[in-house]
Amino acid sequence: MAASSERGQENRPETHPDHPARHIRTAATRDARIWGMSKIWQLALEEEPAYVIEVLSEKFDGLSNGQKENILLHEIAHIPKNFSGSLLPHVKKRGKRNFDDRVRQLVRQNNKRK
Ligand SMILES: [Zn+2]
Repeated sequence: MAASSERGQENRPETHPDHPARHIRTAATRDARIWGMSKIWQLALEEEPAYVIEVLSEKFDGLSNGQKENILLHEIAHIPKNFSGSLLPHVKKRGKRNFDDRVRQLVRQNNKRK
């Protein structure tokens, strides 16, 4: 990554493993990301679906607990309700429940439990 940073491309879009063209977040602002175990890996390894949330400790560790929770909830919002191993993209559909609504709902639920 050093070579591309030197060329001033630190802000190039990062892609999501299961939605390379659709899930875009810049490297400069990313503090966490989620990885899903896609169907082909489940079949090849004879494993159940699984997810890993990766945090960038340089950025994540210094945040408040509330900020950390919101970031983790954002990543959790990428997990579909059927827990298939795939990931939901950042879709903004008018008139339909979109990704941001899903994140807000999780944050509300989390705040109620406090
Ligand atoms: Zn996201």
